[in-house]
Amino acid sequence: MLGLMQSQGLMISSILTHAARHHGAAEVVSRTHENTTHRYTWAGVERRSRRLVKVLLAHGVERQDRVGTLAWNGYRHLEVYYASSGMEAIVHTINPRLHPDDIAYIINHAADKILFVDLSFAPLISLIAARIADTVKTVVMLTDTANMPEVTLAPGMTLACYEQLMDAADEDYVWPRFDENTAASLCYTSGTTGRPKGVLYSHRSTWLHAYAVSMPDVLDIRATSRILPVVPMFHVNAWGTPYATALAGAALILPGRHLDGASMAGLLNAERVTFTSGVPTVWLGLLQHLRSSGQRLETVTRIMTGGSAAPPLLIEAFRDEYGIRFEQGWGMTELSPVGTFNAPKPAQAGLTRDEAARHMLKQGRILPGLDMKIVDGDGRELPWDGVAFGDLKVRGPWVASAYFGEEPGAALDKDGWFATGDVATIDPDGFMEITDRSKDVIKSGGEWISSITLENLAVSHPDVMEAAVIAAAHPKWDERPLLLVVPLPGHTVDPASVLALLEGKVAKWWLPDEVVVVDELPHTATGKLLKTSLRTRYKDHYLKA
Ligand code: ADP
Repeated sequence: MLGLMQSQGLMISSILTHAARHHGAAEVVSRTHENTTHRYTWAGVERRSRRLVKVLLAHGVERQDRVGTLAWNGYRHLEVYYASSGMEAIVHTINPRLHPDDIAYIINHAADKILFVDLSFAPLISLIAARIADTVKTVVMLTDTANMPEVTLAPGMTLACYEQLMDAADEDYVWPRFDENTAASLCYTSGTTGRPKGVLYSHRSTWLHAYAVSMPDVLDIRATSRILPVVPMFHVNAWGTPYATALAGAALILPGRHLDGASMAGLLNAERVTFTSGVPTVWLGLLQHLRSSGQRLETVTRIMTGGSAAPPLLIEAFRDEYGIRFEQGWGMTELSPVGTFNAPKPAQAGLTRDEAARHMLKQGRILPGLDMKIVDGDGRELPWDGVAFGDLKVRGPWVASAYFGEEPGAALDKDGWFATGDVATIDPDGFMEITDRSKDVIKSGGEWISSITLENLAVSHPDVMEAAVIAAAHPKWDERPLLLVVPLPGHTVDPASVLALLEGKVAKWWLPDEVVVVDELPHTATGKLLKTSLRTRYKDHYLKA
């Protein structure tokens, strides 16, 4: 027998209509390309999104067509999000930091019919126009007529101005209802190896993820919160904040393109932001600015970090110098993206300050709705003792089942688990800690060494800004760890002192055979260490020695 409850599909448009109807006056604030501040409300977002649907319809966008965006976090980008998904098309956010070849590939692979582009990316569009001309018919610049840039398109493509199109449209539109499993948005993983792959989110997965991240032990989003996602809307939907803030009726502050420490501190204070989210490099920049300028953050109480391991320095510096909780989450494009969050259980109540800081290095507990496990090389589940580490697998309603263009289930094992490509431990309280990417773990004499553990220790050295540990081939042990460090500006690093700092903190055989000081380390388009290129460069380091 079925339950006798209304079954109302989870539509992304109803997130927006909820915000407009029940939190109509809540603010959406954007820092624009010209560095001015644009303010309106969730009611305004809903009205303008309806107007934008009329623009999309006028340009021949049909159900399930892909609508591409190349844009910073801003209100027009937000309107493209809601209008495209709401009318049953698919918003495809493109990461502008990828190589232009990859961007052209992604646009063609996704078959984007129309592109919405921020002024910063006008030169990029001119560069790739000829390569995307068979796919993209219209390029709409996200600006007004006064600021239209020069863009060279290929024959057959049309250039348009967002505000001009909006002025010519009306708002006479009723949001449709359809199956909640319908595709709503598309995001490609940055593909550190091989071609980028598309993850296709549904209305249902987006709703459930937005609910889960809003919970008190995750982002704790309230109507009184003022939330600034530094994490870009062009990659994994800014960790779901554009949806979760609307559900709660929170104020949403969109920072545009200036993400340096000084701009961030200014905006966080000016807009009385209470919570902000982003990757560690952004927080390093912010911390450096705060320390050198003496400026304080007046209203921020919590910072969420994710995307790569949280450096211990940041956890302690924000807590001890600024009284701000620096909290870590873990996830990936295939998980919408948030999978775990580190919020304490009663068992953590008695931790000393040092123990608490150490505990915050863990990536955290699984969000309710998902499940996780760690397995050994033969697929056998490993114990949750905080010591055994193995391949991390997850499953749940906001985990990808296949990549765009594949059959459903193609990315899963026979029991429905998705292999994350991360290697992790899980402690008895259910806190997961990433010890490596599967492809980065160092296999020395048949035993595994965690590169991330060594990197975390190395960056606690007073002269080290960034560190990378990679596997270098070794005649006796197959692989041995090699540690590369970048000095802090104005500092020099004594390699022996880095090794001395590691000694006693890890097993002796984990200690890198050598520390190499370098000027900089390569990064991916999403700010992660690009270890593939380091491995190519240094794999024979110990063989040559
Ligand atoms: P990309 O940006 O490269 O397309 P994702 O954003 O999907 O890929 O990156 C997901 C990966 O980032 C995870 O599998 C994990 O390796 C890493 N990652 C994410 N969050 C954390 C974290 N808090 N600590 C350590 N690694 C993390």
